[in-house]
Amino acid sequence: MSAIRWVLPYEVHPPQDGACIGYPTDWWFPERHAKGERARDFLVAKEICRECHVKSECLEYAISAQEMHGIWGGLSLEEREKVIRQRKKDGTLKLFTKIPITENL
Ligand code: SF4
Repeated sequence: MSAIRWVLPYEVHPPQDGACIGYPTDWWFPERHAKGERARDFLVAKEICRECHVKSECLEYAISAQEMHGIWGGLSLEEREKVIRQRKKDGTLKLFTKIPITENL
């Protein structure tokens, strides 16, 4: 059976114990809400991220995995895209890659 395996460019994992644990996940995905709620959730989520002890790891994961939704490491997609553009210019962008593998599942 074939599967896809993520190949990590370096040791980065999605945060497991960030400051967002215990809060509604939807706050980090304000694009799911109506416009009024969107702005409020966005600001609350960013404020919680600001104090998070795994903020850097969270951001690196989202950039490397090319997360297209939500707030990660305190940055929205648009803000992450700026970082990605800069890293492309600098030649420092590292992305996860997917490779097809065959294994006994
Ligand atoms: S930086 Fe924000 S989204 Fe990432 S783990 Fe911390 S609180 Fe959660």
